Amino acid sequence: MPSFQLVRFLWAILIGYGLLATPLALAAPPTEPLNIVVTIPVLKDLTEQVGGPYVRVTSLLSGYENEHTYAPKPSDLIAVRKAKLLFEVGIGLEVWVSSLVKNAGSPSLRVVTTSKGIALLRDRSDHGGAAHAADTNERGNPHVWMDPENATTMMRHITEALIRADPAHATEYRANQASYLRKLDQLRGDLNDRLTRLADRRFISHHPAWPYFARRFGFQVVGTIQPQSGSEPSALHLHSLIAKIKKDRIKVVVSEIQLSQKIPELLAKETGARVVVLTTLPGGLPHTETYLDMLRYNVLQLANALDAA
Ligand SMILES: [Zn+2]
Repeated sequence: MPSFQLVRFLWAILIGYGLLATPLALAAPPTEPLNIVVTIPVLKDLTEQVGGPYVRVTSLLSGYENEHTYAPKPSDLIAVRKAKLLFEVGIGLEVWVSSLVKNAGSPSLRVVTTSKGIALLRDRSDHGGAAHAADTNERGNPHVWMDPENATTMMRHITEALIRADPAHATEYRANQASYLRKLDQLRGDLNDRLTRLADRRFISHHPAWPYFARRFGFQVVGTIQPQSGSEPSALHLHSLIAKIKKDRIKVVVSEIQLSQKIPELLAKETGARVVVLTTLPGGLPHTETYLDMLRYNVLQLANALDAA
């Protein structure tokens, strides 16, 4: 081989190697994503929206369980032990989480209460119903995420916690939050447009999960099957609900996929009201995989049921 050909050959190898090797050499060493545990799926979605590839999120509840009566599994303890951050709603929603954190016993775990700063609504017992003052949650109703304005506050707590735990990606976290909140605003506008022509906005709820949602979108919860989250209603309470639905001509009962459909169906049979099954947890029903999907699904299904009634 003539020497100039040999030089060209070697040169080509060097360039070829260089083209392959340079991007690898310049790329930052891959960092392990942050291990994060959240209590309910809405927090998983919000965390993944902000954290992208830099987080690995485990939700203790999958979307099918009841958040008030959940019993942690052994695998939950392992997940909490591996986590750097734990995001909860707070307000007494996850009564089962403090013993889990205690049992995990990891000193570096940071628990973040994402409802901090949200103005709470009190559960008022229905006048004339079977509910008593003792049935109200003294701290306020915990289902704050059902209002997108509150979800925004929760996301801000999540973003702050991610930046504190992983300041190297602060720019990405802030940008992801900003782009998500634009999408949320857009959806809220679309949903409000849909609701402008809705005449009857009253419904009976299954458990007291809907006051924040109803206030934000202009619906009216006029009665609740479970006077207190996680407790079954008395026969007396059901009788008074049936009488109310008939007297006030309430057309819609909102049930939830996480709860038994027996009582809503009974109410429908007794009164002719229509049952619409919604979800308070993303992933509970098809087309509710993300928080935005769930919000859209709940508002449109309820509006359609009220229109059709
Ligand atoms: Zn609930």
